[in-house]
Amino acid sequence: MDAIAAAQVLSEIGYLLRQDPKEVFRAKAFSAAAWAIALERPDLEALHKANKLTSIEGVGAGIAKVLAGLVETGRSSYLERLRAETGQPARDDESTIDLTAYQGDLHAHTDWSDGRATMIDMARAAKALGYKYLGVTDHSPRIKVVNGLDAERLLAQSQQREKVEQEVGGLALLQGIEVDILEDGALDLSDAVLELLDIVIASPHVKLRQEPTAMTERMLRAVSNPNVDVIGHPTGRRPGSREGATYDFERVFREAAAHGVALEIDCDPARMDLSPEQARLALELGCTFSLDADAHAPTEFAYVPMAAWMPRRAGIPMDRILNFRPLEALTMVAK
Ligand SMILES: [Zn+2]
Ligand SMILES: [Zn+2]
Repeated sequence: MDAIAAAQVLSEIGYLLRQDPKEVFRAKAFSAAAWAIALERPDLEALHKANKLTSIEGVGAGIAKVLAGLVETGRSSYLERLRAETGQPARDDESTIDLTAYQGDLHAHTDWSDGRATMIDMARAAKALGYKYLGVTDHSPRIKVVNGLDAERLLAQSQQREKVEQEVGGLALLQGIEVDILEDGALDLSDAVLELLDIVIASPHVKLRQEPTAMTERMLRAVSNPNVDVIGHPTGRRPGSREGATYDFERVFREAAAHGVALEIDCDPARMDLSPEQARLALELGCTFSLDADAHAPTEFAYVPMAAWMPRRAGIPMDRILNFRPLEALTMVAK
């Protein structure tokens, strides 16, 4: 059992626990331990032999017991019990996700909006992970608290992007935006601005509890905008703290597939809002996916390897996930 496989088990346990409001504290502990393992990649076998699994950050006796079981048997009876209790059926059609083929993350923030690192620090971290590209997708102006970018600041950011790309070398920085989907489905920046960008992620952030018919119309309008490439965290749900949007998922996903708009699997453990069941529905309806960390700091890129259990459990083949495509094959960048 390698560290990433173990991190995925802990991450899935964290996800399943998080669905129960009483278990949020324990869920966070599992997610935090998964993150520490995805970042540090410790030798679990050696630590287990030395009886030192609790030396890993965030790993107490309970989580150490789960890890010990993983090292000894390759499986987790605790995860299996949770899957049964939460109605997650055993699957014989899981896909294979080869993370070494991951080409780049399409959704990342910098201190131009609410990220906690500079663009060059994010770019260097992505390069160190072997990424070939990184989407610089800060927020649009509507949400004032995150210092969102209007057209003027986007232009200034694109000038910095060019310099950073030259300085880092070997990593394509895609100029993008995470644009807010407004209540009526219009976007928070004009089409004239959006069409200049390499990548446009349109996300619902506010008024998520809109009545489902209106929410469906809102999402349909967003996926029909020809400048939109990806729908970011499609429901906005934060399990355990915020309910997400409810809409006619089948209609919206079908329309997304028709327009070639990808749905994001947001790997932030506080989100993972596209459930495995919804991801599976979207797969059946012909959608493509974007597997992103939505990182606000370099260490958060590790969210992707720990959350890769989700596309695997949903049976999504790698060729439906944009991040496994080389830059030249990302059609949104070319258009
Ligand atoms: Zn967002
Ligand atoms: Zn974001």
